[in-house]
Amino acid sequence: MGAGPGDAKLATLAAVEALRQADVVVRDALASAALLDHAPKHVRVIEAGKRAGHHTLSQDEINATLAEHALAGRTVVRLKGGDPFVFGRGSEEAAYLDARGIEVVAIPGVTAAVAAPAYAGIPVTHRHLASTVTFITGHEDPDKADTLIDYASLAQLAAAGGTLCFYMGMGRLKQITDELAGHGLDAATPVAVVQWGTLPHQRTARGTLSDITTRANDAGLAAPAIIVVGQVAGLEGAGMHGFEQQPLLGKTIVVTRTRQQASGLRRQLETLGAAVIEAPTIAIEPPEDDAPLREAVEGVGRYDWLLLTSENAVAALGETLDALGRDARHLAAVRIAAVGEATDEALRGRLGIAADFTPTAFSAEALARELVEAHDVKHKRFVYLKADIARRTLVDALAAAGATVDEVDAYRTVKVASLPDELWEIAQAQRIDWLTFTSSSSVRNFVELAGEKVDLVRGVRVATIGPRTSETAVELGMSVTVEAEPSTIAGLVEAILKACG
Ligand code: SAH
Repeated sequence: MGAGPGDAKLATLAAVEALRQADVVVRDALASAALLDHAPKHVRVIEAGKRAGHHTLSQDEINATLAEHALAGRTVVRLKGGDPFVFGRGSEEAAYLDARGIEVVAIPGVTAAVAAPAYAGIPVTHRHLASTVTFITGHEDPDKADTLIDYASLAQLAAAGGTLCFYMGMGRLKQITDELAGHGLDAATPVAVVQWGTLPHQRTARGTLSDITTRANDAGLAAPAIIVVGQVAGLEGAGMHGFEQQPLLGKTIVVTRTRQQASGLRRQLETLGAAVIEAPTIAIEPPEDDAPLREAVEGVGRYDWLLLTSENAVAALGETLDALGRDARHLAAVRIAAVGEATDEALRGRLGIAADFTPTAFSAEALARELVEAHDVKHKRFVYLKADIARRTLVDALAAAGATVDEVDAYRTVKVASLPDELWEIAQAQRIDWLTFTSSSSVRNFVELAGEKVDLVRGVRVATIGPRTSETAVELGMSVTVEAEPSTIAGLVEAILKACG
């Protein structure tokens, strides 16, 4: 199966569907790891390619691994970068498995020589400039006695206006361009090198047959890269400026929200071109004893108001309704007050319900104040689905106004055991540009979990969701670069954008 060239969004729907069914994934280094999010929880991931901490499996070992798991009755996804049949040995592996009676299905992928140039603004064919495109390996099997690459023909194709795309050519960039020039290709022919195409660290060098080696070296470009030779490589953007002009392209941003909550922030940052690393400091878990939650939801009709102050509470409500075999109609008689955009969205998304009341500011204080102002809460009964560590503000304010409030633990926030290794690998390489914090507790946990390693992120810029979070960060010795205004996820993204602009 082809994973596409890097950007996880360039995987096909067929690829995603296959991953959903996978018991085992055997992954090459260049195949996007983000795609593994589509695999089920029980999936076993085997790294076939070179990466920190793993050694490379030989082709024989890969073949044997694939066969072993398939013969044990498991569904195996062989995840390869780009397309599996373009310099990917896909057909060799398929033939090996087929010979052992194992059924093989091919899922093509978007290949690097088409996608990387496209993201750099280079179309590989063009009605007026290029009527052919040739895919070439720049690094032939060193064991092969005779070269199969006929540079005379390639030079001829390019001279006639064709596009040449070299894979695996960076180690031999000078030889490749010299060979083409030696076979008569004009030294002024445009050449572009696109490294890490479609990924947030994509970089492009542009030049001609005679100077591209110097230019690519000066820019520090190396593998993995596609070398594009031909008139199309000289197009300035060709109207496709989108990717390389994203404002956060090349920035690496750490998101410390919980897994459940990270996706919104992640999506917004990625849309602007950033690479996002999730480093949750807390995890959301069901309460140790869920009987009170079940009873409260079952008997919700006894209350006048249901209070929800987080999307986690909405998720817990939804799951409890499911477990009780009920749906949103069970909540028909109770009025619902929700604080925060995310809570509101979750309520609509998960249950199809619009809140009866939302405060104008996003805090428990505002909810209490505005609810008391807008509604007569005296003698009214409230049920509050809350986190085990929720602050007292809301309950105290409602009680002071004469309401009774039943508090029910809907979820627990537990500190995670450690921050991901990936975070420290990237911190060590000094590649983190921003740390983001959306709560005081996430700052506190982050510092505690980091321990001595906190020094690795000393110089990194910090963005917080608001004044309380900033205060905690400063108390713990961090300097805050920007603060969201308003205190929302969109505000946080805006603040980072402004600081980068
Ligand atoms: N099957 C893959 C190619 C594997 S060969 C495909 O269809 O794309 C590995 C080579 O592919 C690398 O040396 C590089 O030349 C190219 N490559 C893979 N991913 C790339 C990327 N994101 N950007 C630029 N080149 C890439």
